[in-house]
Amino acid sequence: MEKSHLNLFELVNVCVRCGNCLTSCPVYEIQRDEAVSPRGKIYLIKYGLEGKIKEKGILDVLPYCSLCGGCEFVCPSGIRTIDIIIEARKKWGKNRLKKIAIDGLTKEIFPAHLFTTILSIISPEKFPFSPSPRPFLSTVNEFIKGKGKGKVLFFVGCLTNKFFPNIARAISEIVVKAGYDLYIPKGQVCCGFPYLSIGEEREFQKMKTHNLKMIKKIEPDLIISPCPTGLNTFRRYYRLDNVIDVSNFVLKNLEHLKLKNLNWNMTWHDPCHLKKELGIRKEPRKVLSIVGNFVEMERPDLCCGFGGSFSLSHPEISFKIRNKKKEFVLESGADYLVTECPGCIMFLGSYSPVKTLHLGEIVNRAIR
Ligand code: SF4
Ligand code: SF4
Repeated sequence: MEKSHLNLFELVNVCVRCGNCLTSCPVYEIQRDEAVSPRGKIYLIKYGLEGKIKEKGILDVLPYCSLCGGCEFVCPSGIRTIDIIIEARKKWGKNRLKKIAIDGLTKEIFPAHLFTTILSIISPEKFPFSPSPRPFLSTVNEFIKGKGKGKVLFFVGCLTNKFFPNIARAISEIVVKAGYDLYIPKGQVCCGFPYLSIGEEREFQKMKTHNLKMIKKIEPDLIISPCPTGLNTFRRYYRLDNVIDVSNFVLKNLEHLKLKNLNWNMTWHDPCHLKKELGIRKEPRKVLSIVGNFVEMERPDLCCGFGGSFSLSHPEISFKIRNKKKEFVLESGADYLVTECPGCIMFLGSYSPVKTLHLGEIVNRAIR
């Protein structure tokens, strides 16, 4: 048996069946089926490894996970469900169609709009986003001199680069205004997580090797990104500890940024990988309380429903989760929905009556 499958055996055997994870799983909340709950999937994988059920039994449930990390956050046994699902997908559940869509988003093999075109075709609603004609990385210099306070590497991320250059510009300006020298390597590639999430380990490793080489050349003090999935991938799978999100960067540099209060009524959505994986919860709320009137919505950490390629394979579930979330946003009475993830912005921002912005955009407006 391959080593990775031995690890998988060890991982699944730690579950004590307490069921805590069921209430934090957005997919289970919609489907109400134990088989697709975190616990259910773990046990089916276990039985598959022990040869007690056929491969089809596992293949049927493996796609029912957006890798949001909600179950890991509450598991008393410290089970890393995301790793279990990824290992199982490597062994049983590779998905060629998803790989083509991810290639479209992350590489130049297919046009970037393939991702949203597919989403528009298979979704229950029209999907209003399309890529910018000028991706951020094609428009900027690779180095912007600040005041020499330190070196910050900007990892832009695929979605921000292609769909939200405005978010990337805002964050670049914040970093330079805080006094840092900013490095924006044009050769950066996807963090690789979209490939890992569908079990494509080889593609992931290629991207990891490429990005690590680029990071080593610059030797930054900090790596900032608008994308919590990218930051989490750098920390969890690249083993880098100098990653920083926008909220922590802003709080670290409050003195230099001199923020004013915009007096906007804003609520906050916790992106799954920001809160449940990176443990960042208080910091963005603190920033929002400085730059505006912060109002907490009900269940701010309910997943937006996107889950990357999960929204391609299970659009009905994705949109049902998103609609629940939108109700909470509306009930909050806020005029702005703020978050720190381009995927959440894309998904929650579609047809939202409340303007959805990245924290970086808000902070950049609030700089005096
Ligand atoms: S990672 Fe999220 S979607 Fe997947 S099983 Fe855990 S809670 Fe459910
Ligand atoms: S919370 Fe953890 S230990 Fe409890 S059922 Fe879920 S995976 Fe198993």
